[in-house]
Amino acid sequence: MLCDILSICALASAAAATTGDHSSRGQKADVVKRDVCIIGGGSSGTYSAVRLQQMNKTVAVVERNNRLGGHVNTYVNPATNQTFDYGVIFWKNTTVVTDYFAYLDVPLARSPLVSPAIPAYADFANASRVSADALATGNLTAGFEAYLAQLAKYPYLTTGFDLPDPVPEDLLLPFGDFVRKYDLGAIAFTISLYNQGMGNILAQPTLYVLKYFPASTAISAFTDSFVTTARHNNQELYDKALEKLGSSVFLDSNVIRIKRYHDCVEVLTSTPTGPQIIHASALLVTVPPELASVGFLDTDGVEQSLLGQFNSSYYWDTILEGSGIPDNVSLTNIDPQAPYGVPAMPGIYIFGYVGMPGLHTVYYSSPHPLSDAAVKADILAQAAALVQSLGYKPPVNGSPTFVGLNAHNPFELTVSTEAIRKGFYGRFGGLQGRRRTWWTGAAWQAQDSSAIWDFTERVVLPQLVAAC
Ligand SMILES: Cc1cc2nc3c(=O)[nH]c(=O)nc-3n(C[C@H](O)[C@H](O)[C@H](O)COP(=O)(O)OP(=O)(O)OC[C@H]3O[C@@H](n4cnc5c(N)ncnc54)[C@H](O)[C@@H]3O)c2cc1C
Repeated sequence: MLCDILSICALASAAAATTGDHSSRGQKADVVKRDVCIIGGGSSGTYSAVRLQQMNKTVAVVERNNRLGGHVNTYVNPATNQTFDYGVIFWKNTTVVTDYFAYLDVPLARSPLVSPAIPAYADFANASRVSADALATGNLTAGFEAYLAQLAKYPYLTTGFDLPDPVPEDLLLPFGDFVRKYDLGAIAFTISLYNQGMGNILAQPTLYVLKYFPASTAISAFTDSFVTTARHNNQELYDKALEKLGSSVFLDSNVIRIKRYHDCVEVLTSTPTGPQIIHASALLVTVPPELASVGFLDTDGVEQSLLGQFNSSYYWDTILEGSGIPDNVSLTNIDPQAPYGVPAMPGIYIFGYVGMPGLHTVYYSSPHPLSDAAVKADILAQAAALVQSLGYKPPVNGSPTFVGLNAHNPFELTVSTEAIRKGFYGRFGGLQGRRRTWWTGAAWQAQDSSAIWDFTERVVLPQLVAAC
């Protein structure tokens, strides 16, 4: 009832709302009523919307980009229409994943881990060639087994952050210390390549590394059983989801403010066609829940004190054309002087050959914020130095160009070990369902779409469906 009254008031007041979007000022807002309003149409937001629709709930998805998909980046070669995924690459072969893809009629295929490109290694900071032996710190199979044995101690890490009290001290160790303590050196470099975007992984609390590289990922990696879209176009999943969701999705739309009442939520957005008000029984927030990213929310003291504790690392994916690094060569960054060969960040992980002439993916991370311009400049400088020192043929057609660059920031959200020890995640979990608001996404599970969908399915959706 309160919401019905609000909708009339909101209609009248929206015209006067300061949207920050000049085109929508003074326009009358459209109003829609939905069971759930979802903020963010990336991995978790789209999954939730599709599943809620399957469960006969009405949804509205507000996404600031002009497409659904979040961290998915599919490069389409303008000359050949050939596609290549350089954002999200693969998923695990689990029922949640295969059911979702089957429902959206997107065929899956195995995603082989071994690239046909010739592997080469270099110390990027010194632009010097490095032998693959620089990584020979033990038996990889034994390393996997030892790692899985450690994970087996923490079965509760599989779903969410339902941590015991006290939190085991091993989970709070910097990952480098954990590796040393349990003799996991053989697998440390491999994990650093899977867990890209964490900044300096060896300094991160072990909890986050184990969450990001869980047993299901370790086993999929070891058995080479990841899956990807059969047509090598991961955007297809999200385009098909958009078809199913239709006018329930508001693309290119910014949330201006959200007000939560005891029986409903009111979301004011600016869309390309003008202001839009969404009245919903419940709110599902899927954007990174750090305070700065949810400035549109009418946060209270409890939310502010929790969401204000998040720190972040930073991650970019790019495609560089004409770097001079030869076709068929993938060049990985190893620092032979650093523990386990893991290079310090900010820096590049790899120049990976894409399978299209002249194109390499370049993945970059930083423990602190950097501008896209600074990232580009560093990549170009390192590419030029490597091409020269490794004796590759320098680019002939001028300087290399970025044909793709995406900043996935803020990326990995973490809190201090002291906060984890003091029960941060118990209180964070307590936000679920509070003030008609539910939450999902990477900060609630890990940077792992398959696991996020599983968490959403098991933990969030049952509560949400029961509440509206
Ligand atoms: C380069 C890269 C490669 C990866 N590869 C893999 C992989 O191979 N396999 C895998 O499982 N995982 C992979 N991941 C991790 C995976 O993508 C993430 O864990 C997952 O996307 C997180 O889902 P999410 O819903 O939390 O966030 P996102 O998918 O980022 O979704 C958040 C959405 O919210 C939108 N948004 C943000 N702010 C607002 C706002 N104010 N208003 C409206 N919308 C907003 C964003 O545009 C975005 O679409 C990769 C990540 C990156 C960056």
